[in-house]
Amino acid sequence: MSRLVIMGGLVADLAAGTAEARDLVIEDGRIAAILAPGTAGMAGAEHRDARDRLILPGLVNSHTHGHANLVKGVADRWTLEASLTNGPWMGGARDVETIYLSTLVGALDMVSKGCTACFDLVYEFPRPSLDGFMAVARAYADAGMRAVLAPMVADRTLFAAIPGLADSLPEDLRAEVGRFALGSGEATIEALEAIAAARGNLPTGITLAMAPTIPHHCSEPFLMQVAGIAERHGLPVHMHIAESRLQAVAAQKLWGKSPVAYLAERGLLSPRFIAAHAVWLGLDDLDLLAEAGASVAHIPASNFRLGAGIAHVRPMLERGIRVGLATDGANSSDALSMPEAMRLASLASRAFAGPREAWLSGVETLRLATEGGAGILGLPGGGRIAVGALADLTFYDLRHIDFMPLNDALNQVVTAAGPDAVSDVMVGGRFVKADGRITTIDPASLRERVAETVARLGAALAGPRALAARLEPHVVALAERARAIPLPISRLLPVEGERTS
Ligand SMILES: [Zn+2]
Repeated sequence: MSRLVIMGGLVADLAAGTAEARDLVIEDGRIAAILAPGTAGMAGAEHRDARDRLILPGLVNSHTHGHANLVKGVADRWTLEASLTNGPWMGGARDVETIYLSTLVGALDMVSKGCTACFDLVYEFPRPSLDGFMAVARAYADAGMRAVLAPMVADRTLFAAIPGLADSLPEDLRAEVGRFALGSGEATIEALEAIAAARGNLPTGITLAMAPTIPHHCSEPFLMQVAGIAERHGLPVHMHIAESRLQAVAAQKLWGKSPVAYLAERGLLSPRFIAAHAVWLGLDDLDLLAEAGASVAHIPASNFRLGAGIAHVRPMLERGIRVGLATDGANSSDALSMPEAMRLASLASRAFAGPREAWLSGVETLRLATEGGAGILGLPGGGRIAVGALADLTFYDLRHIDFMPLNDALNQVVTAAGPDAVSDVMVGGRFVKADGRITTIDPASLRERVAETVARLGAALAGPRALAARLEPHVVALAERARAIPLPISRLLPVEGERTS
C-alpha cells in the first residue's frame, strides 16, 4: 500500500466554505485521513510540504471536444452557426494518430490548468470508429486524466436540420450541400454498438457515454436508437440544448415546442441526461429538467465567444438541478481553462437584473466546478475533500502574485487567480503536475508533431474550408433574419431599437 502525507496545506471544505491548514493522508488513490497539521508524521510514508498551497477538490470540466484542439485560435467573430458550418473541415481528414494527438493536446492543456477529469464529446467523420475512440481514451490515460467519452453523432447535417436553410442558399451552394452526407444512421448505430460492446477494454478512469449532438440534427428514430443503447448499458446521454437563439427558433418551427419539452415527451430526460449550454430555456423547461433529475453543463466562455447569450444559472440551482462548469472545445472557446470558466460563471450571473443574492458566490462557483462536475461525470467519491473520497486534487500556489496578499483564499481563486497559479494536480493519488510541470508528457515534446499535423491537415482540408467560407455568410444571415421571430425569453442584451426576443 502506498501512503503519502501532504502536509500543512490550506485544505478547502467547500460545504462549509472554509480553507484551513490540514495534513492529508493519501492511500491507494483515496483520501485516508484529514488531520490537524503536524499530526500525520507516519513512518514509511512519503511526505510533501504543502504549507504554501491551497488544496481544492479537482476541477472537473463537464463539456469539451477532444477533436477540436488543433483549431485553437482559428475563429474570431464566429457565431454558433458559423462554427457548425466550419465543422466538417475542423474535424475532417483524421487518422488514428491525429485523433490521439488532438485529444492529448487538450488533455495536457486541461491538466496544466488544474483539471483532473472531463466529459468529452468526441467527433469523428463520417461516423465513430472503435480505433478512433480507443485512441481518444488512450490520450486521456496517457495524460493522467479521468474522462467520460461520448461519441458525438447525428444523422442530419446542419443544412438538413435548420428549416429553410438549404432553400436560402444560392443554387450552386444548394447543390454542394445536397452532396453533404453524414454516415448513414444505421452504420452509425452499428459503430456505437461496437464501441459499447468494447467498453470493458477502456483504460482505468475512462468511461463511456452517448452524445446525440443536437436534438434537431437527429431524426427521431435515430435519436431513440442512440437513447436505447444508452439505456441498455446505463450510460449518460449528453446533448447540446438550446445553445443559440436559432436553435430555440428551429425547435419551435419543427415541433411547436422547446427542445426540452420535445425530449421530455419522448421519455429521454432522466438522471443520466446532461443538457449542455441550456441558454435559451424558460422556467417550464427547467421544471422538466428538475423533475427528471437531469443535469446542466454551464459553459460561459463558449457562450460569450459565440455570442450565444448568457445561461441563467440561478433558477436551475433553485430547482435543485445539478450544474457543472465547462470550457467547451477549442473550436468554440479556444482556452480549455476551468479557472477562467469559474470567473466567467460568477461574473455572468451578475448580468441578470435581480437581487445580488441571485449572483453566484465564489464558494458556490467552486462547488459547481468540482462537485457539480463530478456528479455529471458520475465519479463516485469525486468533487470533494473527505475521508474516502478520490484523491483528485488541484493545488494553487499561494506564493503566486494572484494571492498577494492572501485575504480570502476561496473567494480569491474565483475572483483573482488565473490558471498559471495552479502549481500541482493530483489524479487518484498520483501527481500529474508537480511544482508547475506536467509529469506525464511534456507538452513541449509535442510541438513539432502538432505543427506538422496542422500543416498537413491545412493542405488536405483547403477545399472544404473554402466551401465553408462561402456558406458561412448565408448561414449567419438566416440566423440574423430569425431574430425577427419572437421567443418568450431573451438571453442577449437588447440594442436600442432592436427586439431580441
Ligand atoms: Zn459542445
